[in-house]
Amino acid sequence: MTDKTESEVTLYGINASPGICIGQAYLLYNEGVDVVEKYFISKKYLNSEIKRFKVAVKKTKDELDKIIKETPIELRQHTHIIETHVMMLKDKLMYDKVIETCTKELINAEWAVKKVLSNLHEMFKNMPDSYLQARASDIAQVAGRVMSNLVGSNKIDVTSINKKVILVAHDLSPAETSQINLEKVKGLVTDLGGKTSHTSIIAHSLGIPAVPAVGNATDKIKNDDIIIVDGNAGIVIVNPGENTLIRYQKRIAKYEQYKNKISFDSRLKAKTTDGFDIRIMCNIEQPDELGLVFANGGEGIGLYRTEFEYLCSSSFPTEDFQFEKYKHVAESLSPNPVIIRTLDINGDKALTGSQDDKETNPALGLRAIRYCLERPEVFKTQLRAILRAAASGNISILFPMISNFDEIYKAKRFLSETADSLEKERKVFKRDIDIGIMIEVPSAVVLADILADEVDFFSIGTNDLIQYALAIDRGNKDVAHMYNPLNPAVIRMIKQIADVAKSKKIKVHICGEMAADPVNIPILIGLGIHELSMNPQSVPEVKNMIRSISVKDAELSVQTIINQKTCEGVKKVLMDNYGKVFADKLYTATD
Ligand code: PEP
Ligand code: MG
Repeated sequence: MTDKTESEVTLYGINASPGICIGQAYLLYNEGVDVVEKYFISKKYLNSEIKRFKVAVKKTKDELDKIIKETPIELRQHTHIIETHVMMLKDKLMYDKVIETCTKELINAEWAVKKVLSNLHEMFKNMPDSYLQARASDIAQVAGRVMSNLVGSNKIDVTSINKKVILVAHDLSPAETSQINLEKVKGLVTDLGGKTSHTSIIAHSLGIPAVPAVGNATDKIKNDDIIIVDGNAGIVIVNPGENTLIRYQKRIAKYEQYKNKISFDSRLKAKTTDGFDIRIMCNIEQPDELGLVFANGGEGIGLYRTEFEYLCSSSFPTEDFQFEKYKHVAESLSPNPVIIRTLDINGDKALTGSQDDKETNPALGLRAIRYCLERPEVFKTQLRAILRAAASGNISILFPMISNFDEIYKAKRFLSETADSLEKERKVFKRDIDIGIMIEVPSAVVLADILADEVDFFSIGTNDLIQYALAIDRGNKDVAHMYNPLNPAVIRMIKQIADVAKSKKIKVHICGEMAADPVNIPILIGLGIHELSMNPQSVPEVKNMIRSISVKDAELSVQTIINQKTCEGVKKVLMDNYGKVFADKLYTATD
C-alpha cells in the first residue's frame, strides 16, 4: 500500500470553516462575462438601450427575490445579504448612474454598467474597513448578474446538482451559497475569498467545511476528482492515496464525535483546568444574529458593530430606528453585557460615493471616532440611541480607533452633553454606563496607562492592531502571508495592554479574529486576557480549548513565547507545549 498516489496533490488555502469531508469535486464555472463590447448608439436608440438595461435589472431582481423566497429555513438569517443585493440594484449610485452614463456618453448599456460598477468597486475597495471592502465583492456579484442578463449568458445554477459533491469554484456569491442544498453539498473550495467572505460565513453557519483562497483550485481540480477538504487545517488534498484516505476517514469519525461533544458542552461556562472562568462573548453586526449567539453558548455581546445600518441605506439611520435595535439586543441578552461600538466607518464616503473626496490612504484617514468627532450631529444621534437603550439592559459603549487622549476626552464630553439633553427632554435613559475604547492603534498601546485612567475597559481589536503595528493592509492579498497574530510584536503589545489593565484595575478583552482561533487561546490566557469576544460559530471550539488548558501552564508558556524573535519561534513553543492538545482536537494536519 502506498502512502501517496503519484497524482496526490495538496493545495493550501485558509481554514475558513471547520470540518473535514471527502467526496467528488463538482466544478462550477462562474467566471461571468469577461469580454464586454463597447459601441456608441445614436440618440434615437437611447430610450430602447435604457429600456434594455431596466429589463435586465428587473430580471435580476426577480431572480434574487425568487432565491430569497426559496431559501431553506436554516439559512434565512443570511437572506439580508441578498436583500442588500436587491437594494443595490436600484441604488442611485448604480441604477441612475448607468442611465446617466448611457445618456451622456451615448454608449451601450453593457459598457455603462461596466464603467459605473468598476468605479463603485474601486470606491468600496479603498474603504478602510474590511467589512466595507468585502462589500466590493457584493457589488461585483450584483454587476455580474445584471451583465449576464444584459448579454444573455448563463449563470451557474447550484440547485441543479443532483449528487452529494464538493463544490469547487473560482468564487461564490452569497446568492449562490445560500442556494446550497445540504443534502447535496458536503464542502466548498474556492480560488478567491477569505475568512470574512460571505461564503465562509455561510459555510460556517451551515457546518460545511470550507477552504477558500486556494488560488488555483479550479486549475488543479477536475470534475469528479476525489478530494479531501480539511477545513480545520485549511488544506485540500486532490486524488489522495489509499493511506491518506484511510487516515482521513479516521479523522472524520473522530472529528464528528468531537463536534457533537463541544456543541453540547457549549452551553456551559468555560473553566480552565485550574478553575478560572473565562467569559466568552460574541461579535454581531445585526440583531438577527442573536439566535446564533444563544445556540452557541455566547455569554454576552462583546462587540456590536453598528456600521451595517449606515451602509445599507441611502441615508443615516434615525435615532429611533437605532434605539429599537439596540433595545431589542439589550433586552434579549439581559442581564448579560452588550457592548455597542459607535460608528466605525468614514460614513461620508459610504453615502456620497463621490470620487472627489476619495482619501489617498483611507485606513489612516477620517475614520471611526475621528469622523464622529467631526460630525457631532451624526455622533450624538447614535449616542442618544445608545443611552436610551441602556435603560433596558446591561449596555456599555465602545469608542473605536482611539489614538490619543484628546479623542477620549472629546467623545466623553459628547456623551455627557447627550445625557444632559436627554435629561432636559425627560427621556428615559441611563447616564452611567461603562465606557471602553478599542485598542487597535499602536499609539493607544504606548499611551495605555494614560488612557486607562479615562475608561472602564479596553477592547483589543487585533484585526486593526496587527494592520497598523505591522504596516500590513488587512485587505491586501500581496502581504496577507505576513499578517500573523503570532508575530512577537503583536504578542508583546497585547502583554503591555493586559499588564496596564491589571495594574489600573480595569477590564480588558479581545474582540479581534485572533480570539476566535482556538490555537491562539493558550497565548491569550497566558497573557492575562480572561474575556474574549468572537463570531458565534467559534464559541464551542474556543470553550473546549479553554477547558483543556490551565492558566498556570499558559502563563509559564508565555514566559518563553514573549522572548521569541520570530513567528516561527512562537509557533514552535506553542506546538512544543500544546501540540498534543491541538492534534487531539484535529487542529493540525497530522495526528
Ligand atoms: C478589530 O479591529 O480587531 C475589530 C474587532 O474591529 P473591526 O474588525 O470591526 O475593525
Ligand atoms: Mg477595528
